[in-house]
Amino acid sequence: DDAPNSEHFTLTPIGHVVSDYPDKFGIPRQPGLAPAANAKLVFIAPYNDPLAVRGLEEFSHLWLSFIFHQSPDRWSPLVRPPRLGGNTKVGVFASRSTHRPNRLGLSLVKLIGIDTQKGVVLQLQGCDLVSGTPVVDIKPYLPWAESQPNAQAGFAPQTPPLVAVTFHPAALDKLTQRKDGATLHALIEQVVSQDPRPAYKQKDKASDRLYGVRLRDVDVKFCPRQTGEATTLEVMAIE
Ligand code: SAM
Repeated sequence: DDAPNSEHFTLTPIGHVVSDYPDKFGIPRQPGLAPAANAKLVFIAPYNDPLAVRGLEEFSHLWLSFIFHQSPDRWSPLVRPPRLGGNTKVGVFASRSTHRPNRLGLSLVKLIGIDTQKGVVLQLQGCDLVSGTPVVDIKPYLPWAESQPNAQAGFAPQTPPLVAVTFHPAALDKLTQRKDGATLHALIEQVVSQDPRPAYKQKDKASDRLYGVRLRDVDVKFCPRQTGEATTLEVMAIE
């Protein structure tokens, strides 16, 4: 029968993200961590109607509801947040894990502009989403209702510690040859400073082993260096 089914819901993407992140590996774990990351949200018909975004340009930040489409469609009650070193388990609903029922994600992003020349395209900043991510809804952010500066944040009480990043002259040289060199430099620095190596490799304090992360159209190669007590990540090549 065609009675509305209140137990199952079908979601249809309203658009897709085109971002600086071709792979899910290396993407910072929350949107604000790499403000230099640019993205577009390209709407799909019938949602690409300029009427549907009328008034949105008055808001500086948006919530994106999206699907973790590159995560497996299975979940378990316990997950291992990378923030806890990848060994300690917490409940999936106490985490922002991508391995969750319904695979729904939620990111707060900055709205830079809206282009309605051909369909609808939003320009966004600070997205933590892989290119191609299906977006199912958008809502404007209301700071007076939603900002809670004194909130308690469990096992993730503050911004994760940053690792210092240096650039090998060869990498700097590559950047100067590109039109987007300045913004790519900032993006690489913000992404590598999160230490995108797998948790068990973060113990690797100094080595010539190259780790890679893909950003925009380049492969960024970096390796750990010992500087006194601390580890620095040196960007060796941009290919
Ligand atoms: N801010 C969102 C949230 O809290 O729902 C995402 C948090 S999740 C921990 C962030 C990670 O999701 C990124 O580091 C990236 O590796 C991964 N990711 C981004 N887009 C994805 C996608 N479409 N499918 C699967 N994983 C994705």
